[in-house]
Amino acid sequence: MELWQQLLKQSVSSVDQLVDKFGIKKEVAERLNEFFMARINPYYLSLIRYPGDPIWLQAVPDEEELYDVDASEDPLNEESMSPVPNITHRYPDRVLFLTTSQCGLYCRFCTRKRKVGDSSKINMRELESAFRYLEEHTEVNDVILSGGDPLMLTDAMLEKILARLRQIPHIQIIRLGTKMPCVLPQRVTSELCKMLKKYHPIYVNTHFNHPWEITEESKKACEMLVDAGCPVGCQTVLLKGVNDDPEVMKELMKKLLAIRVRPYYIYQADLTKGANHFRTPIDVGLEIMDNLRGHISGLAVPYFVIDAPGGGGKIPLLPEYVLARDKEKIILRNFKNEVYEYPDVQEEHIVLKRGRSIEKRPKRKNGKKKVPVPVLAG
Ligand SMILES: *Cc1c(COP(=O)(O)O)cnc(C)c1O
Ligand code: SF4
Repeated sequence: MELWQQLLKQSVSSVDQLVDKFGIKKEVAERLNEFFMARINPYYLSLIRYPGDPIWLQAVPDEEELYDVDASEDPLNEESMSPVPNITHRYPDRVLFLTTSQCGLYCRFCTRKRKVGDSSKINMRELESAFRYLEEHTEVNDVILSGGDPLMLTDAMLEKILARLRQIPHIQIIRLGTKMPCVLPQRVTSELCKMLKKYHPIYVNTHFNHPWEITEESKKACEMLVDAGCPVGCQTVLLKGVNDDPEVMKELMKKLLAIRVRPYYIYQADLTKGANHFRTPIDVGLEIMDNLRGHISGLAVPYFVIDAPGGGGKIPLLPEYVLARDKEKIILRNFKNEVYEYPDVQEEHIVLKRGRSIEKRPKRKNGKKKVPVPVLAG
């Protein structure tokens, strides 16, 4: 057994362990276990510094989860956008492909609890219909392996999937959505990296939420993946009590960049069952973005997005930089709140250089680009 598999085996998971380790009442621990099982491996457990700290909040079951009864188990409508088991096809050219129900840590805020945890939730025999779907859908050129966590598969199993995907000519990009570099970095071995190299272009998107998760071990895991030619991005979830603070987020983004991980998204927390206590006001996210852009390297500034409830996809939000706008100009503010004016182009008065005659720029075929009037979905 490899080291990472041994560590997983030693995870805190049972009701009795939850009672012993974290002082949860037995009756509560039983209900929490029923709702969404716990799995805290010794590596991630060792990152906890005190009860209720940002690491604890992400990993240790909390009674609060049980009070959130109304929220959806599938807030992003992934099931209705699933043409065959394990595939979610929401965007024109890319799909999500769930390959396992297992994770190295069961994050308490997980948006996909209905698919994650006990192994019956994803049937490996159903992978075949997913492959056939991908073969038939030539518009798909980007496949995101997710789950669960695809790095919970053995190297051999993962290689089978990658090899099969690489036989499909229209698939160009393969992404691994994996939290392992953060929660169980021992999973990233030189054998794994050697195997991944054979199937490029492979992109990795990982998931760090707090600066304490950046350790010697996680740094090594990310750097090994980058050295193997996989660009590594990070998808962070904005979580109350964990990272809902501009200084914490700034430190996290800078530390990620320093280990060659490129911040990609910050997600507003989903309306997922059992996670209401992690949600923050939208203004908190906007304030964080305001404290990033201009203040730190642009390479470390991700997009802040809301994954639209009901399955509308990721929608970016920006702090308000446009103070006013009319036909002649746009009035903007910069990161220091200084105000600037930029004169807009007046299409009727284009003067071409080099002494050529003054011409009117030909009108675009359909005139001004029309922005369709939004309608409320659902
Ligand atoms: C997030 C997501 C993707 C990938 O979106 P990108 O913006 O390209 O990273 C694809 N499909 C689904 C269903 C998703 O939720
Ligand atoms: S690793 Fe991802 S899929 Fe697994 S429990 Fe955490 S958030 Fe959910």
